[in-house]
Amino acid sequence: MGFLRSSVVRMGTPIVLLLLLAASYQPLIASLAPYYNLIYAAPYFLLFTALLLSHLFKSARVGMMVVILLVGYTVILTRLQSPLNHGTTYMEYLLLTVALPINLLYMIIVRDQKLTSRFGLFFFLAIGMEIGWCALLVQQFGELSSYLHQHPVLVRVTSVSPMPLLLIVLLSILVCVSTIRLLRKNSIEDHAAFVSVLCGVTTLVFFNVPFISSLIFSLAGVLLIANQVSLSHQLAFIDGLTEIAGRRALEDELKHLGRQYTLAMLDVDHFKKFNDKYGHETGDDVLKLVAKHMAHCEGGASAFRYGGEEFTLLFKGKTTEHCLPFLDALREDIANYPLVLRDESRPHDDKQGRQKRGHASDKKPVNITVSIGYADASQADTPDEVLQLADKALYKAKEAGRNCIKGSV
Ligand code: GH3
Ligand code: MG
Ligand code: MG
Repeated sequence: MGFLRSSVVRMGTPIVLLLLLAASYQPLIASLAPYYNLIYAAPYFLLFTALLLSHLFKSARVGMMVVILLVGYTVILTRLQSPLNHGTTYMEYLLLTVALPINLLYMIIVRDQKLTSRFGLFFFLAIGMEIGWCALLVQQFGELSSYLHQHPVLVRVTSVSPMPLLLIVLLSILVCVSTIRLLRKNSIEDHAAFVSVLCGVTTLVFFNVPFISSLIFSLAGVLLIANQVSLSHQLAFIDGLTEIAGRRALEDELKHLGRQYTLAMLDVDHFKKFNDKYGHETGDDVLKLVAKHMAHCEGGASAFRYGGEEFTLLFKGKTTEHCLPFLDALREDIANYPLVLRDESRPHDDKQGRQKRGHASDKKPVNITVSIGYADASQADTPDEVLQLADKALYKAKEAGRNCIKGSV
């Protein structure tokens, strides 16, 4: 599942699906044409489902992106179905090409707040005002539409797109911005913004292709539903702080184990004192660091956060003899890792702080250690009992002075 959440897969899937759609477009349209009412309705059905899921999983920003797509699709269906050189259609089309991606990108940078909060009210007001402004512009300057359609600055390659080249370049930059953001941060919101911007821009660039808005907005709906399903999986199985698998994922794994496996319990030494001395936030950083080391543990280990400052390693199909060197290497890696803590006397002023942090003398490296207990499948009847044995072994390691590894026998 971790692989499916990687930023490259999250970026690649919509692109591959769009290319597949392009490759099979003619036969697809031919087979769907008799059901055109259904094609028009599909984006509403799918996007409303995504909106409902975003509400259930409290993913307000994704919900706002879905609302923006729904408004964009409604504008396309109600205002842009006549040829672009008719009346004010081209001007309305241009307004949509600018407003849709910018609104979507703005959703990446705002803080996550509920749709029912004051921010949610502001959001709906802003959307309403934008529609009002656009309607006013079209009403007042509607005759400019045919002028814009022919303006030399707005040069177009009409065989490819009704969109001016200049706008295509600008929108491509916006797609690149959302791609870079996704590759760098890879949050659920970044993925939703990438999908929405990519699908929105592709629709608007290839606007002359029949049924394009319905098909691509439907694809956006499917991808946003997948985005929310992935979020629900993440909420259930991934630990929010350390981003490794959580207790529930471990319990799930324990139900499907074969006859041979080793379980190890790991606990940070004197962590309460560490928290008291350096603060809870620094303590959290330490937990992230331990999790990172565990995720890189070799020998076929899967890492889980059991709870608090306790972690579990599962070696499927492996005996304790096989696992011991890897566990010891992990313990040693953590013990030898110099933790560079921020100087508590660091000035609060950001500029001064940055200057001061540049000096090596301000950084105080400290070390943390962990104790590990392990047991394997041959020592008990059920995985839960093996886990209890590993836990008992962990206490032996603590009694033996910490920063060491003990087996259950
Ligand atoms: P020992 O060497 O015997 O394990 O001593 P200890 O102090 O590590 O053990 P103890 O179980 O008494 O303390 C665990 C501490 O872990 C208590 C709690 O403050 C801290 N802790 C648990 N979860 C978190 C967390 O998510 N973040 C931070 N910063 N601290 C946590
Ligand atoms: Mg503990
Ligand atoms: Mg501890």
